Amino acid sequence: MKALVLVRYGEIALKKGNRSRFEKILVKNIRARLVAFKDLHIHSSEGRILIDTSGDTREVLHEAAGVFGVVGTRLIYKVPTEWEEILSGALSILKDDPRTHSAKIFAIRAKRKYKGFPFTSEDIGRELGSQVIDTFPNWTVGLKNPEVCVRVDVHKDDTYISVEEVQGPGGLPVGTAGRLGFLLSGGIDSPVAGYLMQKRGAEIFPIYFHSFPYTGNQALNKVKDLARVLARNQFRMDMWIVHFTHIQETIHERCLPRYGVILNRRMMVRLAEKISLKENYAGLVTGDCLGQVASQTLGNMDAVGQATGMQIYRPILTYDKTEITKKARLIGTYDISIRPYEDCCTLFVDTHPTTNAGQDIIRTEEKKLDIEELIEDALKKTKIEKIK
Ligand code: ATP
Ligand code: MG
Repeated sequence: MKALVLVRYGEIALKKGNRSRFEKILVKNIRARLVAFKDLHIHSSEGRILIDTSGDTREVLHEAAGVFGVVGTRLIYKVPTEWEEILSGALSILKDDPRTHSAKIFAIRAKRKYKGFPFTSEDIGRELGSQVIDTFPNWTVGLKNPEVCVRVDVHKDDTYISVEEVQGPGGLPVGTAGRLGFLLSGGIDSPVAGYLMQKRGAEIFPIYFHSFPYTGNQALNKVKDLARVLARNQFRMDMWIVHFTHIQETIHERCLPRYGVILNRRMMVRLAEKISLKENYAGLVTGDCLGQVASQTLGNMDAVGQATGMQIYRPILTYDKTEITKKARLIGTYDISIRPYEDCCTLFVDTHPTTNAGQDIIRTEEKKLDIEELIEDALKKTKIEKIK
């Protein structure tokens, strides 16, 4: 019997007015994720997305389950809506599925969506259940935690039977919430922050402040590798590599060392704002985490935020480092983030940075800089790269 992949989506089904737009974006994202599969047909109608492929259906099942907005995927088999077809179809799927051979506890979940079908959901459950026990005499029914769950969805013409499913991440399809400039460094935090914004539907565009040669090509490659992991979640991704060396050197030469980090950060958000306005990004994302380091006290985050008129989103603000690390492992960025590389900060960072940069002192320090000229110069040397 030929299997299809059913994609289940949760929250977007609730967005009444926007539903078709959300579905379209979800289908586009699924298509992009499955680009390597040949003969792929994605049908979307009546709130269900079905994928038909001549390739490896199980691989499609797992890949599609990684797309944001997807609650889960199921391998389903289509039989005509007739009593005998449903019973024999379900039994033959169970017999063919190697995973079912080690199982002991099962459940039937039948849904009669087409009320014209003369047998109720209970009828299907009871009859199919007793035939399953005849076929697999060691099995017992366990409705709470079954090892095998046979789902039977009766529609008018076709009935869908499934025994295998994969959980998805949930969230909203990337692209439904708009575009954001994403301050991506090589650390553990910012990739997690970007991932979380993608999960809620934002398309993110990494902006990396590169201080070559203090931070070398290995550092840049590491950031690109991090971007690549996240690029899997969206249709396309461009990354901005901003030449930050001269700004960092100038601040180091002219300003009080205690304020160096905050002055650098203020320059970063100014530059990110310039890029974002040009590219129509609606805001910025950072991996800031409250209290993690001196630059991330409430006072200093405020001092950084004051340098831009754009909204700064900080999705991991309240996470503990252990929670961030756990998430980073889960999404596959942790091993890249912990790669050693030359960190420019050791050279430029003061041993006693301020934890609360006041507005007056910032104004005084920034008077020592020609901000417009520094920004213009950095932007001129900024590069954009497509992440694949
Ligand atoms: P991360 O926070 O990503 O683990 P980190 O700990 O080295 O890296 P922090 O000093 O915590 O960075 O910086 C806070 C945030 O500022 C980062 O999460 C990131 O969003 C942004 N940021 C810092 N340095 C850079 C950089 N060189 N390029 C882009 N963004 C940066
Ligand atoms: Mg950090």
